[in-house]
Amino acid sequence: MKYADSSGTFGLWALLCASVCLAVVSAQSTWMAAAENAQQALISKLVSRQASQQLHIVEVDAASIAAIGKWPFPRDHYARLVQELDAAGVRSIVFDIDFSSRASRDTDAALASAIAAANASIVMPTFSQAASEYDERRLDALPIPELRENVSLASASVRPDRDTLVRRMVYGTVTDGTARPSISTQISGGSGSAHSDFLIDFGIEPSSIPRHSFFDIESGAFNPPSLAGKDVIVGATAIELGDRYGVPVHGVIPGVTIQALAAETLISGPIWEAGWVPFLILAAIGSVFVGSRQTYTTLVLVGVSFGIMTIILQAAFFHVLRMAFDVLPALVLLILATCGQGFRIARKQLWQKGLMDIETRLPNAFAFSRSDNHDREFLAAAYIKDFDAIQSVIGKDNIGALFERLIERIGSVGAMGEVYRADTRIVAWHPDAQFDAVEALFEDIAQKMRKPLEVGGKRIDVTLTFGVAAKDDLTGASRAASHAAEQGRLWHAHEHAEALILERRMTLMGELDEAVEANQLQVVYQPKLRFSSGAIESVEALVRWDHPVRGRMRPDLFIPLAEENNRIEPLTLFVLRQTINDLARWRETDIDLSAAINISATLIGSDSFIRKAEMILKKAAIPLDRVILEVTESATLADPAHCARNLRRFRDLGVAISMDDYGTGQSTLSYLQLLPLTELKIDRAFVQYAYRERSDALLVHSTIQLAHSLGLKVVGEGVEDKQCLDFLRQAGCDYAQGYHITKPLPFDDLVNFLGNNQYEAAA
Ligand code: C2E
Ligand code: CA
Ligand code: CA
Repeated sequence: MKYADSSGTFGLWALLCASVCLAVVSAQSTWMAAAENAQQALISKLVSRQASQQLHIVEVDAASIAAIGKWPFPRDHYARLVQELDAAGVRSIVFDIDFSSRASRDTDAALASAIAAANASIVMPTFSQAASEYDERRLDALPIPELRENVSLASASVRPDRDTLVRRMVYGTVTDGTARPSISTQISGGSGSAHSDFLIDFGIEPSSIPRHSFFDIESGAFNPPSLAGKDVIVGATAIELGDRYGVPVHGVIPGVTIQALAAETLISGPIWEAGWVPFLILAAIGSVFVGSRQTYTTLVLVGVSFGIMTIILQAAFFHVLRMAFDVLPALVLLILATCGQGFRIARKQLWQKGLMDIETRLPNAFAFSRSDNHDREFLAAAYIKDFDAIQSVIGKDNIGALFERLIERIGSVGAMGEVYRADTRIVAWHPDAQFDAVEALFEDIAQKMRKPLEVGGKRIDVTLTFGVAAKDDLTGASRAASHAAEQGRLWHAHEHAEALILERRMTLMGELDEAVEANQLQVVYQPKLRFSSGAIESVEALVRWDHPVRGRMRPDLFIPLAEENNRIEPLTLFVLRQTINDLARWRETDIDLSAAINISATLIGSDSFIRKAEMILKKAAIPLDRVILEVTESATLADPAHCARNLRRFRDLGVAISMDDYGTGQSTLSYLQLLPLTELKIDRAFVQYAYRERSDALLVHSTIQLAHSLGLKVVGEGVEDKQCLDFLRQAGCDYAQGYHITKPLPFDDLVNFLGNNQYEAAA
């Protein structure tokens, strides 16, 4: 049963579109920004690294404010700071402190002269701010002119994103027509076009940037060599000064720390922003894989590993190549695909529950109604007799195993395809066989069922009856099978099927009439091994029909039909003639064989047949004691006395008479006394498992005894293995015939077979 689901690829496209939409929306929405932030925070933690140590922060901290006792600091404090730092040999001093208004003439002058005297390069900030509360224009706040003289100017503006977090820094700004680098560009000595910006690398651990308290430096309480050649950025970190911003990963941090992190970012080289598309494409490929998982375990496993792989890959790109990918849309796609597939698995399981028989896990009648049987010919059903008794022996828990064994056994006869539990005690399937062959098929299955099934440690005898119906008629097939059980027949055909069978049979009979003339009939020979000599002394002639359309047909498919429709006489005469010819040809090559010809019971009462057969035999160029007529007793003889007289005429010619299929008919014993027999063949149904079935063994033993007491030879047929052969030998049987020795062979193959003594290996 196939679970039809075309929504797979469509679903993937839908998910892909959804993710793209989300990617676009995420740029706008704060909650997506929050998710992105959380994800970036995770990545930054993964790739957390140390600052370069080239850049130091001098912080206006609470301790310095307490020590100096005043804010803003009088400018002479800055002057002393500059002198101390310059004396220590710093490379540059960058102020992130507003010098745009005057303090006092003396202190401003002190700072200006300290700057003028310094060797280090000094950078002072420009801040961009709104012109007024109602005026959106940006104005630049510059340091007062005295201080400006010997310094470089750099923009210190910090621009938070919509969600108030600061993620980026500009390379520079243009104000009043002048382009100015940002503090970070200035410190790192990098370049970039004004107004363009870059991602700040929050993977750099802020605490790894060396810090010094303003007052400690001013008062000389530091180790000067540690600052030699370094860049120093001076800014406020004291909470009460308020110069603080929210950033990803690190929460709220001082503006000066952001400037330092931005500078550190550029020192390591800027981050290349690669966007969300590449990872979304990767995730789309991953989603196809996720979408083909069929169990929850593999689904979760695959989904989670793709998620983790995405994050690891993103971290690796970031860390090694400084490429920042936005993987959120990709992760969303993976999550959607995983959830979607989970939903589909759940739906499929629900769906399958409705279509599956719980006890046996076979598809049920509902499943049958949903299945597609267009290319099938017909439907067969098998009814389990005495199901209740079987169930009480093996227990309800073993019903599944019972059906499993049963299907195995039926399947050993011919391919079954999908098998349905049509009803508590009925299985149905579409046999891989010609419609005309159903009878033979059911007989073969019934034969196989003679061996008990092993279920739950017990050996169970299961008897089946069968039904056939049109390919889509489950009820019809089931009814026919249970009807056969009621009637004590092996099988029954539902009305429509019956009509079809009749029609087929009639055409087949028409074709059989031409088959003899058209040379479509062949005779093959199956050897009989003689135990006493260990040699092959006789064979059985078996007819084959090489049908131009249906291919080589087994006789079970047309002999019973031919018997019913009075077509058996020409066929049998053909086989008789052919066999006598072949016997003569063997004799020419010094092979002295006897051959048995099968004669239907209906023909033995026919005077016309007897006359024609006698004519052929009398003209034969071989000793007639090399010919055996095998009479099958499955059909009761219409006039046994008349038949006995006819057979006597053959006996008088020297022909031997064998009774075929012994054990399967009803009037067996009376025939043994009445008919002029020389040989008896025990049906393969009893022979095959006699080595281990007590009742079969009993029948074989008693038959051999009885036959010998009547002076008859005994053939065991259907010998398929060595155990069976050994059993027959020990039981005192005279001949064995079966696939274990060889299958029936065409004329030439038989000559080779005998020439190579191949049967000795089997014996
Ligand atoms: P049968 O007379 O009982 O012939 C034996 C059948 O058993 C043959 O099938 C043979 O191929 C098969 N057989 C031999 N050894 C084994 C074995 O080890 N295992 C199994 N499972 N089968 C084995 P085949 O040739 O299909 O013949 C089927 C029946 O058709 C014959 O049964 C016989 O009743 C009938 N038949 C065959 N040829 C003629 C014929 O020329 N005239 C008539 N009237 N009937 C024939
Ligand atoms: Ca036979
Ligand atoms: Ca037989």
